[in-house]
Amino acid sequence: MKYVSTRGKAPVLDFDDVLLAGLARDGGLYLPESWPVFSAAEIRAMRGLSYAELAARIMRPFVEGCLNDADLARLCAESYGGFTHPAVAPLRQIGHNQWVMELFHGPTLAFKDYALQLVGRLFDHVLKKKNQRVTIVGATSGDTGSAAIEACRDRAAVDIVILHPRGRVSEVQRRQMTTVLSSNVRNLAVDGTFDDCQDLVKALFNDAAFRDEINLSAVNSINWARVMAQIVYYFAAGVALGAPDVPMSFSVPTGNFGNVFAGYAARLMGLPVDRLIVGSNANDILTRFFEGGVMKTEGVVPSLSPSMDIQVSSNFERLMYLALNGDGAAVDRLMGEFRGHGAMVMPQGAWSSMRDVFEAYRFDDEATLAAMRSLKRSTGESLDPHSAIGVAAALKGHSRKDATVVALATAHPAKFPDAVERATGIRPGLPAHMADLFQRAERMDSMANDVDALKSYVRAFAGRTGA
Ligand SMILES: *Cc1c(COP(=O)(O)O)cnc(C)c1O
Repeated sequence: MKYVSTRGKAPVLDFDDVLLAGLARDGGLYLPESWPVFSAAEIRAMRGLSYAELAARIMRPFVEGCLNDADLARLCAESYGGFTHPAVAPLRQIGHNQWVMELFHGPTLAFKDYALQLVGRLFDHVLKKKNQRVTIVGATSGDTGSAAIEACRDRAAVDIVILHPRGRVSEVQRRQMTTVLSSNVRNLAVDGTFDDCQDLVKALFNDAAFRDEINLSAVNSINWARVMAQIVYYFAAGVALGAPDVPMSFSVPTGNFGNVFAGYAARLMGLPVDRLIVGSNANDILTRFFEGGVMKTEGVVPSLSPSMDIQVSSNFERLMYLALNGDGAAVDRLMGEFRGHGAMVMPQGAWSSMRDVFEAYRFDDEATLAAMRSLKRSTGESLDPHSAIGVAAALKGHSRKDATVVALATAHPAKFPDAVERATGIRPGLPAHMADLFQRAERMDSMANDVDALKSYVRAFAGRTGA
């Protein structure tokens, strides 16, 4: 499979180069040159496969030429073997035709594990093949850092440094990162905000000499391999609920648009997806876009669902490229407009083709708490605030009331215990495999908000083995 950039000006690459590159050189995002489509018979034949087997079946066409079937099957088995639910992405029924897909049974209790567990292994595999090493440097406001650390710990070809703003992540989030004592992992508590951390990381990537010296890399949410791995659970839910013979809709609590875009990809690949329902919190740039066709940034306000507190949904560019029929020049022009003026107007045809599939709803903190309370009352289940927005959007949207709808639960309630307790009066406990989190030893270093200090730190860490 070959990959093209959404802006049409970067070199066409193979899967392994797309994996390591992340962002395309023209500023665009990579997409497969063509979409593999599974026939109805092929989808029927997926019934009964384990999650890891299904993952290999779905992703095979995307990695063809770079990864053989045996390696792919092994990497999938290793990636999902450690999940704490045997179904990996189990479905729970919450109404007649309404289901919740639990995507929080990975090592850090959020859906990002489903992609990152595989992506960490893919990095290691491809780098060893090329006889290379990388140092991954990233900033986190909470969830992504721990998922990335769990994905990269103990991988021979990868070192990882994660920056977090000191005192501004929850204790569970910090401990999920700092209790990983592997020699290839470092945590840095920075005196500053999340934006300061992100600016420090950007400064490293913008220093071309330093980037090459260290072989700097990232595993951020625009990496194609993360989207690819997320397509799998849409098929898993679909096949379990009767695809290809039963159509269904999915409702997705959305920030960077990576998760819900994977649902769109599943639809392109033959899964009978009726509607894709986007749930947002008060940071509702996507909801406003689907309502009016104009993408316009406003300031970010903190909410109970911090992993969706975003200003710009970077993966949206992928949908744009497809809706504009692969016109990279048009994407480039619109993104330039957006960067320059904080707003862009989608051409009418592209917007209406998006609206054929997508709809979006916003829920502020009060509405989120109300949704958590109401679900607790009707089913006895606690949901975290992100997942509650997914369920609330499913119940509100869902144009065909008789059709099956699946809401994606993106985090375990114990990751956001304060909000859950506020909504339901009950404080959720950590699952058994993490019950001793507060007793585990922590390791982290501290740093001022200073680029040169960060460079010396990363240089010393990357150079410690003479690599
Ligand atoms: C990252 C995250 C989201 C948003 O997912 P996107 O792919 O960025 O749209 C939603 N919920 C949780 C719990 C997350 O960690």
